[in-house]
Amino acid sequence: KKVELGSFLNETISAFNQSYERDFLLEVEKEPLIVRTDAVKLKQLLYILLDNARKYSSDRIEVIAKAEGTTIIQIKDYGYGIPKDSLPYVFDRFYRVDKARTRETGGVGLGVSLAAHLAELLDLRLEIESIEDLGTTVSVIFSSNFNVAEVQLKEEGSS
Ligand code: ATP
Repeated sequence: KKVELGSFLNETISAFNQSYERDFLLEVEKEPLIVRTDAVKLKQLLYILLDNARKYSSDRIEVIAKAEGTTIIQIKDYGYGIPKDSLPYVFDRFYRVDKARTRETGGVGLGVSLAAHLAELLDLRLEIESIEDLGTTVSVIFSSNFNVAEVQLKEEGSS
């Protein structure tokens, strides 16, 4: 239940990269960064986001974990990006940006909606920022204080 994000993200990226040899940069801004979550579901969610970053970019993929009041994991790519008009629809089931380049990659358009479902189960918020032809950043935001193990521990100690 308690997950240290530094080692967890390292493992997740290594496992992912056994199938796809991509250039990754992992940056954990504060260590240890401990959260309370379901590691299996969080890994599934991150695989979906990593897979999209891989499919829709060719440069390095960055994974950043930080604590700014709440804990945030970001998956950042420097790929095709998502056109502004399409951005509101990427959470819809079976939606795919209608561009020749996205049609070339495999997929049915279920990834992001499944990620959103997992995020709901884990009480996480997903935010997608994207600029066409520059890239995409997906932020996985832990609901403030609730999933952060350190805060839970302090509360237990003070009672
Ligand atoms: P799959 O069902 O295999 O995940 P998919 O990748 O098409 O297929 P989603 O993951 O739901 O489906 O993504 C929906 C659409 O959003 C994609 O088709 C793509 O156009 C766009 N998209 C998602 N992530 C990115 C990204 N990192 N960069 C650019 N476009 C993206």
